[in-house]
Amino acid sequence: MNSEDRMPVFFIGHGSPLNAVEDNWISDGWRLLSLTLPRPKAILCISAHWFIDDLRILNTEVPRTIHDFYGFLETLYKITYPAPGSTKLSKTVRGLINSKSPKFDDTWGLDHGCWVPLSVLFPKADIPVVQLSIDYRLGAKEHYRLGKELAPLRDAGVMIIGSGNIVHNLSKIDWSKPDSGAPWAVKFNLTSKDLIIKREDERLIDYRALGEEADQSIPTADHYLPLLYVLGASDRSEPVSIINDGCVFGSVSMTSIVIG
Ligand code: ZN
Repeated sequence: MNSEDRMPVFFIGHGSPLNAVEDNWISDGWRLLSLTLPRPKAILCISAHWFIDDLRILNTEVPRTIHDFYGFLETLYKITYPAPGSTKLSKTVRGLINSKSPKFDDTWGLDHGCWVPLSVLFPKADIPVVQLSIDYRLGAKEHYRLGKELAPLRDAGVMIIGSGNIVHNLSKIDWSKPDSGAPWAVKFNLTSKDLIIKREDERLIDYRALGEEADQSIPTADHYLPLLYVLGASDRSEPVSIINDGCVFGSVSMTSIVIG
């Protein structure tokens, strides 16, 4: 493929699993995004919900749909996203990662961080999907470096998607604010967005130095780290666009980033 075929890379704020079935500004944003996306040959997803003490690559031709959430509508548990896997892509991913020794895994599947947005972006579920775990033993710089190692996939028609939420603090959820954020959440959404647009990647990697709002927005790294893969897999000269910019329920941002 020539460079015109280079796939964009994106970070998607996935939020609630209800976004798979509700018509709201978030799923509308994903649908609009889908109209602009090229069709990838395959998708590699780094989801906040496969956050384990190991670096693993999903390696199956038939990934199961994982309903890893509790207390939601019964209909959500009946949804399946029957996209095929690609053991060929799994091998390619393993070959690209030189800084670590990832293992193959056939026990995981597509978790909701992966299938919820994909069910809106690619509803036919006919594009092979592979997931890479987030190894929580690694430091932020190492996650960023993994993103860099994965970048060549983009020239082979693979779309790299990081799925999380830049602001994600479930202990501070405010049900009275379905479509807005607490002041600290709004402020950190703005700060992080500004750093992403300016491509001040080092400051985003060193997010613990970004102050009190960062501490509140990122109490655990799981939903933030997928962003570092997306930054790592892109060049600073590439165009950045932002969709679904905003917060929900006081303490979760839905802001999503498209690069390339
Ligand atoms: Zn999540």
